[in-house]
Amino acid sequence: MNAVKTHVGRCDTCGKPAAYAQLLPNNRRFLYCDEHVPALVKREADKREATEKTR
Ligand SMILES: [Zn+2]
Repeated sequence: MNAVKTHVGRCDTCGKPAAYAQLLPNNRRFLYCDEHVPALVKREADKREATEKTR
């Protein structure tokens, strides 16, 4: 599973500005705001951000 934090686009559920994106094959993605982000997507995005900071 591939997930990142984003500032682009809007939540698929409520239309608020998106905070997280779940990346899918074929250039598709699901966008979530802070409220609707699934716990797993949030964890993956946070983990990825932490990894990139230490790099
Ligand atoms: Zn939302």
